[in-house]
Amino acid sequence: MLKTVSNFDRIGEENAFAVLARANQLAASGKDVINLGIGQPDFKTPDHIVEAAIKALKDGHHGYTPATGILECREAVARRIDSLTGETVSPENIIVVPGGKVTMFAAILMFGKPGAEILYPDPGFPIYRSMIEFTGATPVPVPIREENGFAFSADETLSLINERTRLLIINSPANPTGGVTPRAEIEKLVADLERWPDLALMSDEIYDVMTYDGEEHVSLLTFPEIHDRLIVLNGWSKTWAMTGWRMGWSVWPDSLYDKVRKLAVNCWSCVNAPAQYAGIAAIDGPQDAVTRMLEAFDRRRKLVVDGLNAMESISCATPKGAFYAFPNIKKTGWKAKELASALLEETGVATIGGPDFGILGEGYIRLSYANSEENIERALERIKAFVER
Ligand code: PLP
Repeated sequence: MLKTVSNFDRIGEENAFAVLARANQLAASGKDVINLGIGQPDFKTPDHIVEAAIKALKDGHHGYTPATGILECREAVARRIDSLTGETVSPENIIVVPGGKVTMFAAILMFGKPGAEILYPDPGFPIYRSMIEFTGATPVPVPIREENGFAFSADETLSLINERTRLLIINSPANPTGGVTPRAEIEKLVADLERWPDLALMSDEIYDVMTYDGEEHVSLLTFPEIHDRLIVLNGWSKTWAMTGWRMGWSVWPDSLYDKVRKLAVNCWSCVNAPAQYAGIAAIDGPQDAVTRMLEAFDRRRKLVVDGLNAMESISCATPKGAFYAFPNIKKTGWKAKELASALLEETGVATIGGPDFGILGEGYIRLSYANSEENIERALERIKAFVER
């Protein structure tokens, strides 16, 4: 029997992909499936972005690019950061990567080793914990609580830091809860981090523009005092409906930039060249498609929250960001993963059980409302009929 290194016995995965495969299988067998499982916009990538990729190919941009991304693309990212946060970031601190996930992969690889502790949100994006375990580091969950509006608590986070903690991962607006952490909490966290100067931070800001009801997204980039240890994960996937293009960017401090550049050289060489040109067009081109998408998400968000709250045994806090609802299903008497599975098999509605995002996800399921209003209404009817039968 082939024996791989033990890291591969510990690597996890993202159950949303397994649910997607099962949902597609059921649909192929003729079942009417409504997919509220996978986290990706149901909109098409705007035409001008697609055209930019086609033009780049026709213009002969088919070869390797610098490992960190073409300069024009990194300059576009710097403009984007400036326009959203008012911060000036040098293109020399920006790398274009094949999807947002690659940034967490690189950051966790850089700091994870046996004996090290890495803090990550629970419930949170499942790959954080998976990658931490892969490296042999100890995953330390930072609880994300419904009673706290699914924001992280600075005090609770700080109470978990010790001299073994190497990396702190935060995510706002958050997957799977839709929680947005308020400015006061972030300011408190940053102020107290002064006590831990050797602790690196990774702020996952991939849903940065997806906030509702005037809720503010506070980028960690707006705190210059932590720039020397801050990694910011962001990308094109969610904002411009580009999940399959595999286009992300991240900001790295000077001391880490060359390390991530070398990782790129060793692993992915560079991001697909025409996709980088598409990425420039996404940032510099018209944003009306993004605005329309966000307006649609907002309408659907209300539909989902109202529909779920009309069910006796389910309650749903209003998500403030991203495109997920994370209803509390404890009163249904179901275990969350079993409910998600029964909903898919029996009613054709795909959702994800909360425990797929961490231990504290028990008692919740995640619904992605990146689907049409009509489908969301049909899904809600089916869920209601199922839990109230
Ligand atoms: N970070 C969070 C919080 C996410 O929810 C996702 C995708 O679902 C990612 C990162 C990864 O994004 P990408 O598809 O660009 O790798």
